[in-house]
Amino acid sequence: MQNYDEIRIENLECFAYHGVKPEENEQGQFFYINAVLYTEIRKVAAEDDLNQTTNYSKVAKYINELMTRETYQLIETVAEKIALSILLEFPLVQKLDLEVRKPDAPINLNFTSISVKITRGWQRVYIATGSNLGDSEQLINTAIGQIKGHPQIRDVRASSLINSTPYGVTDQPDFVNGAVTFHTLLTPYELLEFLQGLEIAAGRGRDNNKGFAVEELQSNFLSSNKSVRWGARTLDLDILLYEDILIDEADLVIPHSDMHNRDFVLTPLISLNRHLKHPVLNRSMKQLLDDLTERYAVT
Ligand code: ATP
Ligand code: CA
Ligand code: CA
Repeated sequence: MQNYDEIRIENLECFAYHGVKPEENEQGQFFYINAVLYTEIRKVAAEDDLNQTTNYSKVAKYINELMTRETYQLIETVAEKIALSILLEFPLVQKLDLEVRKPDAPINLNFTSISVKITRGWQRVYIATGSNLGDSEQLINTAIGQIKGHPQIRDVRASSLINSTPYGVTDQPDFVNGAVTFHTLLTPYELLEFLQGLEIAAGRGRDNNKGFAVEELQSNFLSSNKSVRWGARTLDLDILLYEDILIDEADLVIPHSDMHNRDFVLTPLISLNRHLKHPVLNRSMKQLLDDLTERYAVT
């Protein structure tokens, strides 16, 4: 993430009713909020225009309103709700640190205060789109429209679509492939779930989701199991990169474990950002594509 300027709100006092104990919900207590908003000040400062900046008085009032609008048991939940709400309400804020402090927490011991501090922000993501069943271009464009429509996704840019021959299982129709980049507040797992929902909406069959119309229509096309990896599908959405995050779990691997071996992934990625680097291999997508071309030229 680039270096941002900071707007700080310190010790904003809010009277609210959050807590696990009934007396906290009934009597209420003071909470103190610290917020650091990461944004770009230089351009705004040059024009000295309040409408173009993040108005900290509005942010402070907004936080106070959120603190009292609903009551939660945990200050963790309070912090999470406020952070996401600010990121959605104030578009110039790219990232924020938010601390919720509770000096009068009901504990029978001496302490100054209890607090929770979190950092949340818009995360840059790259995904791959693929399809080789049905009206592939239309299916991919519909998915891009649905991605654009998600409230926690913004700044969506899509590459143009390319045609490619199947990878892995070659006995199937050609693919249409592309890449899409955007900023999101979704966590990697929330994003995976959202994308899998779009695949299902596009009629993609999975083991536990058999019987979709398009898949059925094509069922004679393939001798292999329809839901095998690399098999034919109406829509395939893979997370390629999520900032520089590394995840290696059974159901989610980021960066995508095989992206560097696929020209139909690298080519659209390069068209979106020709400086993009692979965070593990530490080579640019362009270098990885050149490596691939070289490898194929030799064999
Ligand atoms: P490949 O991932 O090699 O392109 P595929 O796209 O054909 O193969 P799928 O059948 O679509 O594979 O997905 C199998 C599982 O892969 C998904 O259920 C998902 O949990 C898991 N998975 C792991 N990493 C990712 C990722 N980065 N993006 C999407 N799915 C992932
Ligand atoms: Ca895939
Ligand atoms: Ca996939």
